[in-house]
Formats: sequence, structure tokens, C-alpha cells
Amino acid sequence: MGAPMRSTVGPIGLVVLQSTGFCNIDCDYCYLPDRSNRRQTMDLDTVAQAARLVFDQRLLKNELDIVWHAGEPLTLPPAYYAEAIKMIEAARPPAVTVHYGVQTNGTLIDDSWIDLFERHAITVGVSLDGPRDLHDRNSASCRRAAIPFTSSAWSRRTRCRARRS
Ligand code: SF4
Repeated sequence: MGAPMRSTVGPIGLVVLQSTGFCNIDCDYCYLPDRSNRRQTMDLDTVAQAARLVFDQRLLKNELDIVWHAGEPLTLPPAYYAEAIKMIEAARPPAVTVHYGVQTNGTLIDDSWIDLFERHAITVGVSLDGPRDLHDRNSASCRRAAIPFTSSAWSRRTRCRARRS
């Protein structure tokens, strides 16, 4: 009889939640087929269920990253994520630390989002096409809405800096 097979599953270090498949822009290369469908939302009961499922099994490390990603997570209101985090924290075992993150196209960030990011130490990844000609070529709805390459990223960065100073 051979040696017992070792499991190659786990530990889990990252959970990606798709809160919505909807996106407020429309990149030509996007792989999401229903990105114009606003009704594609993960309800909060599903978030709680997912958290229980992840926390209930033995493949966890002491630290876990939970990231909201794809379509554009910020098309849902900050209150959605505040409630989701409350549910996840309620299910979290004391020995596990959760780090939250969001991947966004950055076009919807305002003070209410910055408040949420600060309150929960949420890491923010911003997806940008660059240089400018690539952005303008690939983001059809950005062109229609006249969102130039430089303004969405830089104006928001300036506002973040101003609030922190
Ligand atoms: S920003 Fe991302 S999710 Fe939105 S259309 Fe572009 S690639 Fe798709």
C-alpha cells in the first residue's frame, strides 16, 4: 500500500465576492456578459451564508482577505458593504483576522466611500487603462459620458489627500 495522499486543498487566504455584475462603464474587452444589468446583486443573506461556509471549515489561515470584485462594486451603496461587513464580522471566529478590499474603476469614489474605506481599513485597488489613448479607445461609455482619462483618478486622489491633511 502506498503512502497516504496529502491534500493539496487550502489553506484559504482569499475570498472574492461578486456583489454585482453591473458596471457603470463599458470597456470593449470586458468579459462580463451582463454588465449592463443593474439587477445583478448578491443579496446580503448570501453574503452571510458565504461567510458561515468559509468560517465553518478547517481550511482557514489566521488571516483572510475578502475582496469585492467585478462588475463595479461601487455601483452599490456604501451601506451595502457596511452591512455585509457587519454580517461577516458576526460570523468570524475570534482567531481569524479579516482584511477587506475592493477593486474598482474609481469613477464613483466620493467622501461617503472614503469614510467607509477608512472606517473598515478597506484596501482599494483602482483599475485604469493607460495611457490616455488606450483608455479612450476601450471605454466606450466613458467617452459617451465625457469622463476623461485624467479627471476621474486625479480629482479623487486630490480629495483624499485634502481630507487627510
Ligand atoms: S471597468 Fe471592469 S467591470 Fe467595468 S466594463 Fe470595464 S472591465 Fe468590465
